Formats: sequence, C-alpha cells, structure tokens
Amino acid sequence: MKTHSISIVGIGYVGLCTAIAFASRGFKVLASDIDKNKVALINKGKAPIHEPNINEQLQKVVKNKHLKCILNRQEAVLNTDITFITVGTPSKPDGSINIQYIKKAAEEIGEALSKKDTYHLVVVKSTVVPGTSEKIVKPTLEKHSRKHCGKDFGLCVNPEFLREGSALQDTLHPDRVIIGEYDKKSGVTLQALYRDFYGEKTPPIIRTNPPTAELTKYSSNAFLATKISFMNTIANVCEKIPSVDVTTIAKGMGLDRRIGQLFLNAGLGYGGSCFPKDVKALIAYSKNLGCNPELLQAVENVNETQPYKAIQLCKSFLGNLEGKKIAILGLAFKPDTDDMREAKSIPIINQLLKEGAKITAYDPAAIPNAKSIFKNKIRYVSSSVECLREADCCILITEWEEFKRLKPENFISRMRNPIVIDGRRIYDPREFSRKLKYVAIGLGSKQIQIEPDEGVWINPALAVNVIVEDKGMLLLVKRRFEPFKGLWSLPGGYVEYGETVENAAKREIKEECSLDIEPSRIVGIYSNPNRHPWKHVIAVCYAAHVVGGEIKAGSQEENAKFFKINNIPNRLAFDHAKMIRDYTNR
Ligand code: NAD
Repeated sequence: MKTHSISIVGIGYVGLCTAIAFASRGFKVLASDIDKNKVALINKGKAPIHEPNINEQLQKVVKNKHLKCILNRQEAVLNTDITFITVGTPSKPDGSINIQYIKKAAEEIGEALSKKDTYHLVVVKSTVVPGTSEKIVKPTLEKHSRKHCGKDFGLCVNPEFLREGSALQDTLHPDRVIIGEYDKKSGVTLQALYRDFYGEKTPPIIRTNPPTAELTKYSSNAFLATKISFMNTIANVCEKIPSVDVTTIAKGMGLDRRIGQLFLNAGLGYGGSCFPKDVKALIAYSKNLGCNPELLQAVENVNETQPYKAIQLCKSFLGNLEGKKIAILGLAFKPDTDDMREAKSIPIINQLLKEGAKITAYDPAAIPNAKSIFKNKIRYVSSSVECLREADCCILITEWEEFKRLKPENFISRMRNPIVIDGRRIYDPREFSRKLKYVAIGLGSKQIQIEPDEGVWINPALAVNVIVEDKGMLLLVKRRFEPFKGLWSLPGGYVEYGETVENAAKREIKEECSLDIEPSRIVGIYSNPNRHPWKHVIAVCYAAHVVGGEIKAGSQEENAKFFKINNIPNRLAFDHAKMIRDYTNR
C-alpha cells in the first residue's frame, strides 16, 4: 500500500500521463477536469489523446480502481494528500502565458483546503514563468483556504519534461526530477513521493527554489528549440552546396559528446503545444525584465519561415500551383500523436490553398483534429495510397513510421508526377533521386555540381531548351557523345569544363551540327531556373546575350506550346524526366 494518495487537476496530456503512471505503480489517484466528455471517456478506459499503449494502460488502472476521474475538483483534493496542477498555460496574443486556468485551479484547491484539517501538498506541474507559483498560486491558495503556505499546506514546482509521442514512457522513465520547493517540508514530501514511485530507478532529483525550477523548464525547451532552428539554418546553407547533406553533418556533429545526437534533425520546423508557446513566453518574460532575448527571437523567426521551404521547393518543380494536386503525408505536429497544435502542416496547407492548389491529406491519427482546422477546404483520405493517387507533388510533413516504409515505386505508380518533397529527411536520397524527382530539406542538389566528376560534360541533359534561330531556321543539336548521345539539346546549353559560354555556343553549332553559321538570334526558353542547374540557365542566358539574342522564361507547358506554334515536330521536344533519369542513373 502506497503512503500517499494523489489528485490531479487538469487531465490533458500531462495530467493523464501523470495519473496513469502513479496509478500503474499502485497509488490511488483521483483525477479531475472541467471537461465532462474527457471525464466520461477516461472512466470508460478510453484516452482522449493518441499515445502509444495509452489505452491498454488506462484500462488496467481504471479496472483495478487505482484511477478514477471526477468533475468535482474539491472532492478530488479532499480525498487525497498531494495535488498536482496540470492545467494548460496557453499563449496570449503577445506571447506571454495565460494563467487564468492556473488561477482558477488554485482557487478551487484553496476552497477545498479550507475544509481540510490535515497537511496537503500542492504541486505545480504546468509550465509557468518564474514567480508564478510564489506570486500567483501561493497567495490564491492562501486567500481561498485562509491557511498559510509552508505551515498548513506545502507548495512545490515540479516541471514536466515528457514528449508527446512517448509521453507515458517519459513519465515512467524521466532523465531527472526538478523540485522547486517553497519550504523544506514541501520538498522532502515530494522527494519521498518520487522515491516511493521510482524505487531503485529513481532518477537524479534536483531540489531548488520555485523560480529556478520554473526557469529550468523554459531553458530546457528553449535550448531544444534552438538546436532545431540551428540545424534548419545549416540545412538552408547545405541546399546551396552541391552534394552536401545536412543529415551527415548532424551525424558528424552529434558524435561530439559536448553536442549530442538528439534534436539535430533538420526539417520543416518545430510545432506542438510546448516549444512554440514556451519560446514565445520566455521571450515575453525576458523582455519584461528588460533583457533582449535576441537569440530566442532568431530561433522563433527561423521556425516561422522554415515551413514555407516546402512551398518553395514545390514551386521549383511545378511553377504556378493553381489547380495542382498536392498530396500531404502527415498532419500532426509529430508522429505518434494526433495533436495538431502549432503543427507545421497548418501554415503549409494554408499557403498552398492560398495559391490555388488542391490538397489531399492523410495522417494515421490526426485527421479528426485536422478537420476542425481545415474543415472541407481539403480532402481527407484514409491511406497513403489514396493520398498519392494522381498527385502532382507529394510533401511529407510528419515522419510517421508507416511513411518511412514507402518506396519510390509506391510514389511512381500512383502519382501523376512523381515529385517528393521530403520535409523530415526520412528517405534515402541515393535511392529516391535515382528513381524520381526528389528534393529534401538540407540536401544540396547533386545536379548543380560544378566540377564534373567524369569527362568534360557538365550534366547537359538538364540543359534548358534553347533554340537557335537563324534566318527562320530553327536549330537543335542532336548530341553525338555519350552519355547524352542521341538526345536533342541546345547549342551553348552546356559548356566544356573551363570553356567560355560564348565559345561553347559557337563550338556546338559548328561541331555538333557541322554548320558554319553565326546565329543572329537565340531564343532561350527555360522551364524554371529553380529546377535547373543555375549554371546552365546562366549559360543559356549568357549565350543568348552575347549573340544579341532574346531570353524567354517559361514553364515546361509554355515550352511545349512554343514547339507547337513553331511547328517543331514533337520528337524534338525534350523529355526532361527521361533526361534527368538517364543522367542520374549514370
Ligand atoms: P491540455 O490542454 O492537454 O490539458 C489541460 C487540461 O486542463 C484540459 O483537459 C482542461 O479541460 C483542464 N482544465 C482547465 N482548467 C481546469 C480546472 N480549473 N480544473 C480542472 N481541469 C481544468 O494541456 P497539457 O498539454 O497537458 O499541458 C498542461 C501543462 O503542462 C501546460 O502548462 C504545458 O505547457 C505543460 N507541458 C505540456 C507537455 C505536453 O507535451 N503536452 C509537456 C510538458 C509540459
């Protein structure tokens, strides 16, 4: 029989996991919430949140009566001797935290304490800025109980560090326990509870004062957010350097014990109910103290802009997004949760909709929550197979395990245009970029390699389509040399290593076509400068410029139209996809 009985006020993520964890180790737990539906669900053994194994664990503790959920907060307090406050602390518009739920909970607990004649410990587990427990919670409890903190009841701050997606596991096996005690007796009582709970496996316990404990929580989350924004900054640099991959950089950095391997994954930014809110709150709190939290501000800015990288990459393939079918894999802010709070799918989908794209989305757990955000503006499907069907581009937003199992063939066979934007770096770039159009956060494109790795040709297959027009005659060059032998391309569209662009244009017309002419005009048409190696785009523009030509930028469709208008047989139109495949398979 455990010595303490526990009440939990606020049975959301943190409250429910805390309740199940204590109940699973034999403690009597009375949980309470203002939400009738949650209370009813929990008593039926159904978790209102999605977490691995949570329903099984919940059913066990409800069945053996170690956990009961009630609406009456006072009853919960009166029948237990330690109360954890686990209500939400959302952001206000200025980023600071809204403590209305904390205040209300403290009032209710205070009322209950006024009716109690034995010692009671109140533990603030919600994330609150330094000073909240001593300046808000303590006086509220004292006012409503008409008792003294440190004498009639105790008060501790005990921040929670669980991660959604592994919340129960983290609650049962934390790295450390931080106790910010108002007085010694409070600290000793809470430490004894945790010793009883964890037994031999008790993690390191740090006992300190309440504001230090409160700030430890914010500092931890802000530091983790900084690691993520830092890697996203590096990822953006990587994308500009041929063949550089941020995942290898992260591995190399992570092996340094001073840095560590976790939280170095570049991606579309962090979301969820904690990091964005906690970074904002720490910024607001620091400013209020007259500090200038420049670094935190930068962390937040990087995180705000990072999701739009997905749109940029999408447009680099598709150009205008009006009417394009985009498949979204993953909506939740991270895998193994249905939580959509601050999920990066939200700004990405909103922007895609703004640009006229048609969205089909699939997530293994978050669709019910996503529906309340996107309503019927997007189509929801129940599998990745359905999601990819006929899509022009796929954006992977959440790294669910089941998405990791998808192969290039799954995309190729279902999509109209197999383009994959890997927002979370879950696919092997060697495998994917050989078989389809694959771009990923932090992956420097191989196609913009400046130094040729073999021979003298610099990826001419990707060269933009340029047509040399001379006295009404349109010239295209059929390539004579491997590896592009037999492909139609443009004169001057690629350059021998070390050669000037002007010479390249002339040489190719002469050598490749055996024509002795000086082109009077070059009409350059290229599909999209983002999609093609910049060097070739520049080469074409420059070649056109030196011979007094004219440059026209356009999409692949426009390119095809140009061929049609000018009566060029279809066979002359380049199959870009094939050329890219040929080149990358080399
Ligand atoms: P949540 O929104 O999931 O749950 C809060 C619950 O409190 C809700 O069920 C709400 O109905 C209930 N509530 C509000 N007022 C109440 C009252 N007066 N009495 C009883 N219940 C009341 O929140 P959460 O995600 O569990 O977060 C709780 C706190 O823990 C926050 O401060 C958060 O920052 C912090 N935290 C969250 C996580 C996480 O991953 N979710 C991790 C660590 C810390």
